[in-house]
Amino acid sequence: MPITVREVLNALNQIAPPQWALRDDPIGLQIGSPDQSVERILVALDPDPRTAVQAHYRGCQLLITHHPLIYRPLRTIRFDDPVGQAVQTLCAHQIAHIAVHTNWDTAPGGINDALAQTVGLEEVRPFGEGACVSQFKLVVFVPTAYLDPVLDAMADAGAGVIGLYRRCAFYHPGTGTYEPMEGANPFQGAVGQREHAEEMRLEVLVPADRLETVIAEMKRVHPYEEVAYDVYPLHTPQVYPLGRVGRLPRAMLASELRDYLAEKLGNPYVRVYGKPNAIIRTLAVVGGSGGDYLAQAKAALADALLTGEVRHHHTLEAWARDIVLFEGGHAETEMPGVYALAERLRPLLEPYGVEILTQGGHS
Ligand SMILES: [Zn+2]
Repeated sequence: MPITVREVLNALNQIAPPQWALRDDPIGLQIGSPDQSVERILVALDPDPRTAVQAHYRGCQLLITHHPLIYRPLRTIRFDDPVGQAVQTLCAHQIAHIAVHTNWDTAPGGINDALAQTVGLEEVRPFGEGACVSQFKLVVFVPTAYLDPVLDAMADAGAGVIGLYRRCAFYHPGTGTYEPMEGANPFQGAVGQREHAEEMRLEVLVPADRLETVIAEMKRVHPYEEVAYDVYPLHTPQVYPLGRVGRLPRAMLASELRDYLAEKLGNPYVRVYGKPNAIIRTLAVVGGSGGDYLAQAKAALADALLTGEVRHHHTLEAWARDIVLFEGGHAETEMPGVYALAERLRPLLEPYGVEILTQGGHS
C-alpha cells in the first residue's frame, strides 16, 4: 500500500520541524495534494525546469528540494518563464513539490552540520541568528499513573524541546480536589462526593504553532472527562541558531585553507577575502548565502567564515572586522546537506516501499 504526501510531510516535520525555518520562508508543500500517493521521490537542490523534467523521466511522484519554487505570490504562470515552466511540468505530470529550506539549514544533521562534516570540523556547535519561536508554558494536572503517557503524547506533538533535548518537562506531586455534579462521569470518585486525587503538576514548553495540536493530543491521552490545564504566554522565545562553528583538524594559513576547502568541496574556484597570512583554527560555516553572518561568526570566536556566495560589501566587512571570508559556491556548500536529507529520509520511508533518488550532479 503506497504512502501519501501527507506521511512524507510528517517524516520531514520530524527531522526538520517547520518552526525552525526563518520567518516568511515558504517551506512545505508548494504543489500537489497531501492525499497523493508516493512511490518514488527525487531529492534535489533546486526546483528548476530541468530538475522537474528529471523528476518526471525518473518516474517520481514527489520532488523535494532545498530551495522553494515559489518565493513570492505568482502573478502569472507563463511557460516561457523558468518558474512557470517548472510549475507546468510538475502539474502536467501530477508531481508534488515540497521545499525544506531554512528549517533544514538549522536542523541537526541538516545543511550546516553536513557542511561542517564535509570540511572536517570538530567540536561543532550552533552559532548565530536563526528561527525565533514564541512559546507557551502548558501546565496540566495528571493522575500519577498517566504522567508518562500524557508526556509522551505531548512530546510527540512537538512540546518539550529545548535545544537538542526533547521530552523536557518538570513535574511535582500534589492533590487535586473536585466534586462531580449530576450527569458527570468521573474517572475517579462519585457524583455528589468530594474527591481528593493524587495528581502531578506537569509543565512543558510548547512552541506557538504546536499549541493546538499539543493540547488536542494531551486531552486524547488524559483519562479525565474534564482536564484541568493552564496556558501561560512566555516572554522568552526559543532561538534555533542556523550556523555552525567548529575547529579545523589543524591550524592553517588562509591561503592554505583555501586549497583545503577547494578540495573538500570539489570546487577549484573557492575564493578567499581577508588577510592571506591569517592563521585559522576555528571556522564558522553557513551554506548558501551567509555573508550576513560575519559579525556573528566573529562573536562566536571564529577566525573565518565559509559560506556559499557573498556580495561586495561582505568582502569589505570581512577586512573591517578582521575575519577571513571564504566563498565556496552556493551549490557546493549545500549539496552535502541535500544528500544528507535523502539519507535521513530513507530509513523513515523505505520500509513503506518508497524509493528515494537524488539529483545527478548540480552543474
Ligand atoms: Zn541555498
